Amino acid sequence: KSNRKMHPQDTVININGVEIGGKRLTIMAGPCSVEGEEQIVGIAKYVKEQGARILRGGAWKPRTSPYAFQGLKADGLKLLNKAKTQTQMPIISEITNPAHIEMFMDMVDIFQVGARNMQNFEILKELGKTNKPVLIKRGFANTYEELLMSAEYVMSGGNEEVILCERGIRTSENYTRNTLDISAIPALKKLSHLPVIVDPSHAAGLHWMVEPLSMAAIAAGADGLILEVHNDPKNALCDGAQSLTYKSFKRTMEKLRLIANAV
Ligand code: PEP
Ligand code: MN
Repeated sequence: KSNRKMHPQDTVININGVEIGGKRLTIMAGPCSVEGEEQIVGIAKYVKEQGARILRGGAWKPRTSPYAFQGLKADGLKLLNKAKTQTQMPIISEITNPAHIEMFMDMVDIFQVGARNMQNFEILKELGKTNKPVLIKRGFANTYEELLMSAEYVMSGGNEEVILCERGIRTSENYTRNTLDISAIPALKKLSHLPVIVDPSHAAGLHWMVEPLSMAAIAAGADGLILEVHNDPKNALCDGAQSLTYKSFKRTMEKLRLIANAV
């Protein structure tokens, strides 16, 4: 059912008037992790002012090291909702455990399935029983077909609102954190009718490369972007090196407006 042949027209997902897919670009922005009330509310207000329409923020963080910051967990979701009350922005946050789905149902507007969980079929099957959109990130060693099969796990449960996300893959290059696979955009758009969102932040791992990769992704046909933005990247608890500052986010949005429809 993710197959374009069975469903020629593009899927457009609508979250209280905010569309994903369709004619306008959708920019999701926010910190890697929710760190505190002032931080998340401040970032939400700023990115909204600059044209972002969905707020991202991790509460459960799948970190490579168990000693790294693991997220504020349920408190993080509460703080995201404070930001939502003040900005009316829909929330996207990563789900790492099927047992959390019930709690997330009241707290988020889009479930994010992280690259590391792209083939966590138990999470995918449970999300298929919900009625909220699911953004699935491509695993860093997974093929397009495997990503589409993961989408199928959600859709076959009855939830058709799936968003595909390219966030970079592992290659022999290690200058960047990952390698943004630009080919994924036209390929996924050809194979599937689902919206395709690109995450240049995790692809690059370098804040200064986020803007050019954003431009490339939009030029290649992406329906939107998910960008990490932080009020103080140097002191961020997670992914500071790839986070845009307020100033660089503003400039990236201005550049995107030159090539894309009404960001
Ligand atoms: C994130 O969005 O902060 C994240 C952990 O992304 P990924 O799953 O793509 O690594
Ligand atoms: Mn991150």
